[in-house]
Amino acid sequence: MHGNEHAPPGVCIVCGQPVTKVANTVLDEWAWAGADGRTTGPMPDLAHLEPDPHSYLAGLAGRMDAARAARKASLTPLYWATAREYSALKTRLEVGATFHQHIARTAPWPAGKPVSWCCGWPGRLRPSGWRCRQCGAALAGERAA
Ligand SMILES: [Zn+2]
Ligand SMILES: [Zn+2]
Repeated sequence: MHGNEHAPPGVCIVCGQPVTKVANTVLDEWAWAGADGRTTGPMPDLAHLEPDPHSYLAGLAGRMDAARAARKASLTPLYWATAREYSALKTRLEVGATFHQHIARTAPWPAGKPVSWCCGWPGRLRPSGWRCRQCGAALAGERAA
């Protein structure tokens, strides 16, 4: 994983955008949403592909077609560089490696706020409430927000 693992809480460690913590009620897990409300964003290294990676890929294909049509005898190093870029990007688009789940560090639990314990461990605060990390039992307890 590339990105800034030392990003402050509320900033995605992959793309550096401000994100807010949201509840995934299906998984009962926390997720992080960007300003557009989505929990995924484009990979930062593809952000320069205008207007979007798929259109950019189509543009590469068009340039290769034009080069092949114009030069019947030999193709230039630029053509092969375009072909390599096309192949690499096409593969990433096919396997869905162009998006990432926003992820941010969680703000520290406020000092002095009580934490629910069970089975000898501090519990885990899920969207539905405190849960034991060991036995999974729902625990009573105060929430931060
Ligand atoms: Zn992100
Ligand atoms: Zn327990």
